[in-house]
Amino acid sequence: MESYASRTTLKAGIVGAGIAGASCAGTLAAAGWEVDVFDKARGAGGRLSTRHIEQGWATLGSPFISAKRDPFRSQLRDWVRQGWLAPVRGGIWQGRATLSWAQAQLQNHYRPTIEPSQLVRRVMGNARLHPLSRVSALQPRTIILENGEVRGDFDCVICSVPTPQAIPMLDALPLLRERLTDVRYRPVWSFLMRWDGGPAADVIKFDDHLLDLAVRQTSDGPGLWAVHSSHEFAETYLDASEMEASNRAASALMGLLGLPWPVEIEASHLWRYARPETSVGGFWLGDRENRVALIGDGIAGVGVERAWESGLRLAQVLIQSKEELAV
Ligand SMILES: Cc1cc2nc3c(=O)[nH]c(=O)nc-3n(C[C@H](O)[C@H](O)[C@H](O)COP(=O)(O)OP(=O)(O)OC[C@H]3O[C@@H](n4cnc5c(N)ncnc54)[C@H](O)[C@@H]3O)c2cc1C
Repeated sequence: MESYASRTTLKAGIVGAGIAGASCAGTLAAAGWEVDVFDKARGAGGRLSTRHIEQGWATLGSPFISAKRDPFRSQLRDWVRQGWLAPVRGGIWQGRATLSWAQAQLQNHYRPTIEPSQLVRRVMGNARLHPLSRVSALQPRTIILENGEVRGDFDCVICSVPTPQAIPMLDALPLLRERLTDVRYRPVWSFLMRWDGGPAADVIKFDDHLLDLAVRQTSDGPGLWAVHSSHEFAETYLDASEMEASNRAASALMGLLGLPWPVEIEASHLWRYARPETSVGGFWLGDRENRVALIGDGIAGVGVERAWESGLRLAQVLIQSKEELAV
């Protein structure tokens, strides 16, 4: 093995280009690490990815980014300064009344002003992204792709996918795999829908067992909305076709808002692992001997803030352990 003196660049392989993988990748790359990020999707973003539509883009994933505390609070201020995010303004329709954002107690909520997937890509900095690269297994210091390619010799391998998707990759790392078995995720169906009329608000919070939220998509004029189901709805329609689930959601929506047909359904997506109900705890989970660590919301807890911070915290520990890792 090369000695530390001859090896100034450390190498990380990261599975998953969501916000957790991106914050880890960007922090390591900024510290001089060589970072490769593998994602099964066409680009970065994960649950913050973008859907391209005829008129621009829309998002079927997390509509908001919010910060409860530092360091994410100051990171969001920085992204606002760079023009990537803006504080949410406008009305929120809740029950029967339209409230202001402040009345609804949703302070510190932001919406991306650039495509969310672009925002996540920018967070990755100089890390190399390998899209359409599905990972099938992890081994000590090694990533194995579904196409059989073996990428080895990393100083650290980091996995940032939802924990139910990580478990099948961890046969060679039982100590990590065993810690994940109690984590449960709940699903959400999301739809892009277009209708006329309804409340004069930008966000509709449903008090209902089928639908949770509708968010106006600002990139395309007034009529296009992202509609998110409740977890109960998604569990009921987990194996349904897109047509069945979206027709059921559209009819629930019409009833709740008292709108006449037709509601146009432009896209549907099932997030099988939308939000963890439980998580492992802490920011990251590591197998030091085998140089593999896990991050993401299944470890650190639900939400963009926790996922981002899990990637950051692990990267900071790795940067501090540079001399130990280089042997
Ligand atoms: C509908 C919805 C609404 C939400 N609303 C909010 C909200 O308002 N506020 C909030 O804070 N949070 C919200 N969330 C939760 C938030 O989006 C997530 O907590 C956060 O984005 C998780 O980031 P992550 O990096 O941990 O995981 P992800 O974003 O899921 O990233 C994991 C990545 O791993 C990739 N991957 C998976 N398997 C493989 C494989 N085998 N090989 C290669 N790559 C793989 C995936 O393609 C993905 O890009 C919402 C989520 C959903 C779905």
